[in-house]
Amino acid sequence: MACYVTHLESAIDGTHLAAGELQTMHKDRPLWVRYDLEAVASTFKKEMLLGREPTLWRYRELLPIADDQQIISLGEGMSPLLACTRLGKQLGLSDLWIKDESQLPTGSFKSRGMALAITMAHGFGVKRVALPSAGNAGGAAAAYGARAGIEAYVFMPADTPMINQYECVMGGAKTFVANGLINDCGRIVREGKERMGWFDLSTLKEPYRIEGKKTMGLELAEQFDWQLPDVILYPTGGGTGLIGMWKAFNELRAIGWLASDKRPRMVAVQSEGCCPIVTAFEKGDRFAELHQNAATIASGIRVPAAVGDFMILDAIRESGGCAIAVEESKIRNWMRTAMSQEGIAVCPEAAACVGAIEKLSASGWIKPNERTVIFNTGGAQKYVEAIRSDPRRIDLGQPVDWDWIEDV
Ligand SMILES: *Cc1c(COP(=O)(O)O)cnc(C)c1O
Repeated sequence: MACYVTHLESAIDGTHLAAGELQTMHKDRPLWVRYDLEAVASTFKKEMLLGREPTLWRYRELLPIADDQQIISLGEGMSPLLACTRLGKQLGLSDLWIKDESQLPTGSFKSRGMALAITMAHGFGVKRVALPSAGNAGGAAAAYGARAGIEAYVFMPADTPMINQYECVMGGAKTFVANGLINDCGRIVREGKERMGWFDLSTLKEPYRIEGKKTMGLELAEQFDWQLPDVILYPTGGGTGLIGMWKAFNELRAIGWLASDKRPRMVAVQSEGCCPIVTAFEKGDRFAELHQNAATIASGIRVPAAVGDFMILDAIRESGGCAIAVEESKIRNWMRTAMSQEGIAVCPEAAACVGAIEKLSASGWIKPNERTVIFNTGGAQKYVEAIRSDPRRIDLGQPVDWDWIEDV
């Protein structure tokens, strides 16, 4: 099958780079993958999707793959898009949905990005990769690295959720925890490059993780029959998902697949404990400053500085969206609310989006009947520390007290 990639393009100054070789950044800023969208439009038809497997590879014409044999996959299925009537009602919305990314391999949407990044790196002959991770990216890199036979080095903050640390070790990655934050870990990866000869898989420091995460937007459009929702809430750390979805919507528009020109207002959600993008958005800036003393239980969005800050902020503004910070101390409650109302294992990051809706619905920024989608970027089960809540105990030496059981 043909590959429609034409070139890579610097996001900061538009410089073109060759797509046929291993690329990282340009002027220390990320690259876009560009396609011949006219050619895609003339050969790729919606009907073609009908016969294809329900995985992210069904959008193959909009992915940078030259040869199907090259694909490294763990079966990245389409994630369910679930109507949330009960939770919506509680938040004052009649058309609320959660796209549940927790059902992807490794329990988070990070597998979308890693499937593409590792597939491409492997195709270019990379034997060793390294990355800093706030949690799930490390687990996904370990898994896809193992699948591809690529050696992975993962550097994480020491207080990264336990499960993320264990999944890296069990996945065979050389795993390290450091007494700092993800940007400190990023420095180790940068400094070790020469000595260790590894390829830097950090968020947005190679061009293909965006392409993987873009498939969230493609899938969402297909699941809503090519009519995009009014508002998307996305828990934003490095921002790949938000940037990728916005790119997806623009590409779909360019190939004429959207039912109308309407695109969603993109909302970047952060915790007050770490909200560099919100601060920059409120100041009207295009670049964000380092958030000092970043702290939140939503580890995936504990990113004090993002190399793609301007790409996130551009997408939010172009879409007519906003960036909003929510109270750190309430995240656990929102998790519990969402899980108990809808049965969806909502991670702390997505729970922050529930908090954002509370605010935006109350202020009228989201109207009661607007179609609103939260991305549940990972499974609650990976956050043992955050979800710890002990059940009642039964003593088998005593007769069962049914009244007590019923009244609990
Ligand atoms: C990585 C991560 C995020 C943030 O994703 P970005 O696309 O890097 O902003 C949000 N939630 C979870 C669960 C994550 O693992």
